[in-house]
Amino acid sequence: MGSSVYIETFGCQMNVADTERAATRLREAGYSLESSAEEADVILFNTCSVRARAEQRVFTRVRDIRLLRRKGHAPLVGLMGCVAQLEGASLFDQEQSVDLVVGTRATDRLPELIERALSGEERTLDLGERGEGDSWEVSPVERHSPYVAFVPIIEGCNKFCSYCIVPFSRGRERSRPAREIIGDILRLRAEGFREVQLIGQNVNSYRPKGLDGLENFAGATPFSRLLRAMAATGMERVKFTTSFPRDFHADIVAALDEHENLCNWVHLPVQSGNDRILRAMRRGYKVLDYLRRVEEIKGARRRLSLTSDIIVGFPGESAEEFLDTMSLVERCQYDGLYIFKYSERKGTPAAAMADDVSEEEKTARFLALERLQRKVQGRIYQDYVGREVEVLVEGESAKSAADMTGHSTCQKVVNFPGTAALKGSTVRVRITEAKTNSLYGEMVGSVARSLK
Ligand code: SAM
Ligand code: SF4
Repeated sequence: MGSSVYIETFGCQMNVADTERAATRLREAGYSLESSAEEADVILFNTCSVRARAEQRVFTRVRDIRLLRRKGHAPLVGLMGCVAQLEGASLFDQEQSVDLVVGTRATDRLPELIERALSGEERTLDLGERGEGDSWEVSPVERHSPYVAFVPIIEGCNKFCSYCIVPFSRGRERSRPAREIIGDILRLRAEGFREVQLIGQNVNSYRPKGLDGLENFAGATPFSRLLRAMAATGMERVKFTTSFPRDFHADIVAALDEHENLCNWVHLPVQSGNDRILRAMRRGYKVLDYLRRVEEIKGARRRLSLTSDIIVGFPGESAEEFLDTMSLVERCQYDGLYIFKYSERKGTPAAAMADDVSEEEKTARFLALERLQRKVQGRIYQDYVGREVEVLVEGESAKSAADMTGHSTCQKVVNFPGTAALKGSTVRVRITEAKTNSLYGEMVGSVARSLK
């Protein structure tokens, strides 16, 4: 019988997509996939290095596995993903129980690498590039959801924001050919998926080598052409994340205006509301440029939900500069906000600057921003009461056995009384109550939309 593998995933959707892809390759090669670490012959951690805390969590888990070893079960332990790519062979010295280190572009070679490690090779390591024949295909059974699929359209990043490790862990930008992506979406649709999320560090920086597959789709940028091509596949819902402000062309909003199946949500991380800090972050835009983009988004035909990321306590950020971020958040009226305390990442330009905002001050700024966002969000969510939203029913609510849960087209969590028979369908829900991070309502009908 073949060996069994358990994969635990940390970090962003890109890691989730890589895990799905790794699982597909491993099953094809005869491995079985386990849902817990206890029984597996091989335990893989798909790691995240974007902040120090994410990295530490992985090491804590690796140490947990040592306890399994003491109980007489001695699985092979491998690290894949961003920490693996960045730390490479030094991980073997750092963590004695690690047998295998697999970089971000070596996912497709996992079956051979595991084979080598299982047959006694010590310190198995692959930090190489993707192979020519590597495939993006993912078997439907390995997807994180039977209804929502993540589809990477661009890998890596060329932006080199001064605080960010991603260009080092994920390498340079590489866009997938449009024809291949269109093929994925058509296949996913035939397999019964109801929603796709086009993913990448910066999806709107999409720039494939040629325009093969996009000839019949107009647009000011390759990404807006791709969006129109996505709309034409007839996939019920198409979402995309993350958008980079400098590359956010007004034609994206025009494409969303034209096609209802391109969903009404834009994630546009701003990081700071102060020009000096934005420059030190090397973001390549000023506050006014960002606000102009926000105006375009707010001017759309449908109301587009807008979410963002912010870093508090960047090196040298003064109390006044932080207040500029508070004002920007008040002004933008985000539907959701991810707030991060600056975390120094070795090897990035910002690591050479003094990390001089104290931990207490970072926490205070985090909490102040969180309080403000809660107020802003409270108003926005309250505004949904009495209105109807379309919800893709993804499963039972974790909080109440009588409720089902899913996401609206504008990416809000919506709960409502219902039965498991509704799973995988799209329903209309009238909102009756706004909670802090979700909406509650009652089902008023189902959605039968005819798309080409
Ligand atoms: N490419 C996207 C962009 O630039 O908008 C973001 C991708 S990044 C993996 C996700 C988020 O992590 C960033 O938007 C940023 O807020 C946060 N982040 C990245 N590096 C960080 C650091 N060193 N400290 C704290 N937060 C960080
Ligand atoms: Fe990191 Fe900046 Fe690239 Fe986003 S755009 S992944 S923050 S370097």
